[in-house]
Amino acid sequence: MNTPVGQLYIVSAPSGAGKSSLLNALRGRVQGLVVSVSTTTRQPRPGEQDGVHYHFTTAEIFRQQVAGGDFLEYAQVFDNYYGTSRLSVNALLASGKDVILEIDWQGAQQVRERAGNAISIFILPPSVDALRERLCGRGQDSEETIQRRMRDAQSEMSHYAEYDYIVINDAFESALEELACIFRSERLKLVRQQQHHKALLDALVG
Ligand code: GDP
Ligand code: ADP
Ligand code: 5GP
Repeated sequence: MNTPVGQLYIVSAPSGAGKSSLLNALRGRVQGLVVSVSTTTRQPRPGEQDGVHYHFTTAEIFRQQVAGGDFLEYAQVFDNYYGTSRLSVNALLASGKDVILEIDWQGAQQVRERAGNAISIFILPPSVDALRERLCGRGQDSEETIQRRMRDAQSEMSHYAEYDYIVINDAFESALEELACIFRSERLKLVRQQQHHKALLDALVG
């Protein structure tokens, strides 16, 4: 029997909304999910490991990868480039995993055009003040970077209506449960159940 193909998800949020924390925790709740590791020209933050959080690279190599058509999508976010490897996403989907792309709104638009069936989720903070506190509280960015990210948050958030689902990350556990619900319900859709339970469905209806 062929392995069922995985579902592609897009998760976007303004910087500091809690996207990485939520997706990290989600992996303990819903099995069979992988978060795609993006390539970026940004400098690693303290504790970030190459190949785990991002594939860190130079602007020159990034440009060569763009020219070579290596990216499913790429975009300039703040002052850096970020991109999703086409090959690695396709391999993960083919192995039956549900793949999450943690990408900005520009990348989301490209993926919707190129992979028509992607499901997209936008995570919002409960208030502007909470967003500022979280960005400061993370303690990993300079004051200048935080100011820049706060300014850009508004423009990122203005794209929320392009997404299929909205999750407001107020109480962390509630937001996590809401996020898990999205992934669980998507797996109950007719086409996916037909893939996963083909033998049962055939046997039941004779
Ligand atoms: P944080 O997620 O805000 O803490 O910061 P990051 O540096 O991890 O991400 C910066 C921005 O780049 C965010 O808006 C991400 O959604 C976006 N981003 C990350 N990876 C990708 C990617 O592979 N493609 C695109 N288009 N955007 C990405
Ligand atoms: P993002 O990946 O969207 O930039 P992070 O996951 O790094 O955001 O979260 C930013 C900061 O906010 C982190 O310090 C995280 O611990 C904190 N945080 C995340 N969700 C919540 C929440 N619901 N309530 C309070 N703090 C939160
Ligand atoms: P950070 O620099 O804080 O890790 O990420 C900043 C933003 O870049 C995040 O909001 C994230 O969504 C976006 N981002 C990260 N990786 C990618 C990527 O591969 N493609 C796109 N388009 N955006 C990305």
